[in-house]
Amino acid sequence: LTSGLESAWNKLKGEEVLTKENIVEPMRDIRRALLEADVSLPVVRRFVQSVSDQAVGVGLIRGVKPDQQLVKIVHDELVKLMGGEVSEMVFAKSAPTVILLAGLQGVGKTTVCAKLANYLKKQGKSCMLIAGDVYRPAAIDQLVILGEQVGVPVYTEGTDVKPSEIARKGLSEAKKKNIDVVIVDTAGRLQIDKGMMDELKDVKRILNPTEVLLVVDAMTGQEAAALVTTFNLEIGITGAILTKLDGDSRGGAALSVKEVSGKPIKLVGRGERMEDLEPFYPNRMAGRILGMGDVLSFVEKAQEVMRQEDAEELQKKIMSANFDFNDFLKQTRAVAKMGSMTRVIGMIPGMAKVTPAQVREAEKNLKMMEAMIEEMTPEEREKPELLAESPERRKRVAQASGKTEQQVSQLVAQLFQMRVRMKNLMGVMEGGSIPSLSN
Ligand code: GDP
Ligand code: MG
Repeated sequence: LTSGLESAWNKLKGEEVLTKENIVEPMRDIRRALLEADVSLPVVRRFVQSVSDQAVGVGLIRGVKPDQQLVKIVHDELVKLMGGEVSEMVFAKSAPTVILLAGLQGVGKTTVCAKLANYLKKQGKSCMLIAGDVYRPAAIDQLVILGEQVGVPVYTEGTDVKPSEIARKGLSEAKKKNIDVVIVDTAGRLQIDKGMMDELKDVKRILNPTEVLLVVDAMTGQEAAALVTTFNLEIGITGAILTKLDGDSRGGAALSVKEVSGKPIKLVGRGERMEDLEPFYPNRMAGRILGMGDVLSFVEKAQEVMRQEDAEELQKKIMSANFDFNDFLKQTRAVAKMGSMTRVIGMIPGMAKVTPAQVREAEKNLKMMEAMIEEMTPEEREKPELLAESPERRKRVAQASGKTEQQVSQLVAQLFQMRVRMKNLMGVMEGGSIPSLSN
């Protein structure tokens, strides 16, 4: 996926802007890369459409090249595709919280039971496992061994007891012991069959679980999304756990589960160790798929600084000659941010080169101004005239902020100078004199 996408960015090298014409080739690459990553066709179609629409309409950000801009759009769309925010585990209002695990054979259910207990234990929750896979004695032994390994009790019965019966007894045992979270292992089959679904429905009815999580193997690619959909329709699930992500280089399973099934991936397994379970972060996953972390953070920073509306709003304010200390602070902060940005990435064209010493000086000045402005009343901030007219007010601000009266006077004068300069700049000449400070 990553290499397929790379050729998409490469096709934009040397372009000035993104246009309907020049994104055709890159979009074809993106489409191909997603299909090769085993993302289903309808999902790919919607994805490509959405990215194309955004790419053509996107405003230019100073210093950001079209290929970088496209990387960012694709990234954000990937995040959206995977559900946007991280989807947290839900806990019952009154303990115990019951988590029922389901899934086909060999996907990693039993392993996930112990991993999840280990994970929740670290958050200070007491856990208990229930061995609900009665078809193979080895499955019970496996859970007991893993439970011991992570230091969590395992409730077992013989292989002749019905899973729903084990679930019922296990749950009442957990209540007696004041356990916070009960995690129930179940039997899988090689393929979906009615017996398995009926058994799961029985167990679910008895337990009334807070979470029903389908464990899916990432290696199954787009089949993962189909499985989540089927299980959701059959038994009703709250989310999925994607295992063996360490062995899957394509990432297709993670991409389509949410879009196809409507259910989020909550956790991912990335290895056989007990520690190898973590929340599913769509933005990290997107970042990993793209493998272009530096480009992403660059575009994000540039967007932040250049945010058009902010600049325009400030400009309007300046033109209206009502430029006050609040705006002053905003503008000074924006400038300081630009300074530290150029230091970090040093690649915004059209900006004067700023030396590290200048940046440090600007930041020091900003701190000093902030200290003084913070001590002004809201009224004084909006009407700097109040400070210009009253030495007492300036004295108060100086004392409260630990600066000299002269420093405060300078700040006030600076603001009026700025007003005048702005007005001159805009060609609005009326009333542009600098009031002298009365003593
Ligand atoms: P179950 O049949 O669904 O209960 O699956 P198991 O928990 O018994 O796991 C089947 C195999 O997959 C075991 O050998 C596990 O060690 C392995 N396994 C489980 N999760 C992961 C994972 O995230 N990564 C890797 N590489 N192997 C895993
Ligand atoms: Mg098992």
